[in-house]
Amino acid sequence: MSEKQLQLGEDSTFLSVQDAWERALEVLAQQVNKPSFESLIRSARPVAVDGDLVRIGANSTFQKQWLESKHLDAIKDILESHLGFPITLKVDLLEKGPEPVIMADKLPKKPRPRTDEEPISQPLNSRYTFDSFVVGPNNRLAHACAASVAERPGGTYNPLFIYGGAGLGKTHLMHAVGQYVLADRPDMRVAYISGETFTYHYITALREHRTADFRRRYRNIDLWLVDDIQFLTGKERTEEEFFHTYNALYEMGKQIVLTSDRAPKHLELDNRLLSRFECGMLADVSPPDLETRMAILQNKAEAEHMSLSDEVILYIARLITSNIRQLEGALIKLHAYASLMKTAVTPTLAEDVLGQYFGNCAPPVVDVQKIQQEVAKRFNVDVCDIKGKCRSKEIVIPRQVAMYLARQLTETSLPAIGKAFGGKDHTTVLHACKKIEEKLTKDKSFASLVEEISRHIGQPKAE
Ligand code: ADP
Ligand code: MG
Repeated sequence: MSEKQLQLGEDSTFLSVQDAWERALEVLAQQVNKPSFESLIRSARPVAVDGDLVRIGANSTFQKQWLESKHLDAIKDILESHLGFPITLKVDLLEKGPEPVIMADKLPKKPRPRTDEEPISQPLNSRYTFDSFVVGPNNRLAHACAASVAERPGGTYNPLFIYGGAGLGKTHLMHAVGQYVLADRPDMRVAYISGETFTYHYITALREHRTADFRRRYRNIDLWLVDDIQFLTGKERTEEEFFHTYNALYEMGKQIVLTSDRAPKHLELDNRLLSRFECGMLADVSPPDLETRMAILQNKAEAEHMSLSDEVILYIARLITSNIRQLEGALIKLHAYASLMKTAVTPTLAEDVLGQYFGNCAPPVVDVQKIQQEVAKRFNVDVCDIKGKCRSKEIVIPRQVAMYLARQLTETSLPAIGKAFGGKDHTTVLHACKKIEEKLTKDKSFASLVEEISRHIGQPKAE
């Protein structure tokens, strides 16, 4: 930061910026969902002003990118309208440099002093936030409960038990709760642990005769996030220890969130434990529907700066239906392949690359090009002629058939179909469709040929 730059609090311009920032917070609080607002906006603040350049400080790369990609324009508009002059807005990643000056009425809550009695926690993944979580009918309840727990730990939903198949977002939601609480209530001790790690810690403590220490540390928790508790099944002593830890925390009014790959009634755990789980809030996550899968892919592509057509997104979303981890994996694989081969990600490439991994079980992507190629082949003409201007009957019929099939088999608009046929007008496409419809009713062998071509285009590729 240059010497000329002024730190907040030193000059009246800063005070105005500070004021304007408060306004921006009020507006954004209405527009952004609460967990994201609390964890990603409230913790940002103006840190310097240099002429018309206002710098906002972010605490993490994720926060910086999120602000830049989603809210920079809105924040700039609000600041400008409040300040009354145009500004350039930048987001800086705050490193260990000078602490930003703190706004008087927004003193950050004091972090809890560290002690030897730190709870044992595995790290939280900073990408797993409420903001990056796509809500659909399959996870709406689990998301709402998680958001409510994040806002009021130890409130109504205690314990919260989230269950469902692999790769459906259970861990993501659990980390989101942890991160939200850490940002909102830095004084709270948050511990995230998988059932597997809990087991390992317990066995180690037993072996090293440190069970008293183990217990002390596991009682020193305000929000306990235990992932994949199905791992405890069949491990009697670990389960017993878990039961005592659970009871101790619960009785102290601490919030507990659990995940499992199945509902409590299908877990082979001690009945005392199961009845405790069932007294809390149970929320399942199920496989997402097509629209949710597409939204997840779009989000992911955006976060990874990939540009993908809707057709490719649709292809992947139809190919992988039951595991979001696989869905994301497919996207990354495709992107990596396209960058290595220096080629664009087309629907055909998606079919070629992903078909071999996931089996060609998705209906193939039908686009106008594919239709043109197939029709040209069947009528023994050139694709160039189909797209060209030649008006001889041998060409006009296949051209009209291809236009008709493009209308029937794709979502492509009339003008876009016209464009794909060498820049023809949409009325030409409509006229072609009408002509073919008439011919189909009159000429049976023509109708069965068109039917055959249509079926062939809609069939998955032969292996
Ligand atoms: P689970 O714990 O249920 O096996 P995860 O939480 O590990 O699943 O999710 C697998 C991957 O899918 C993660 O990368 C996660 O971010 C992503 N994911 C799952 N559900 C969603 C969702 N609704 N929105 C965005 N990403 C999701
Ligand atoms: Mg998980």
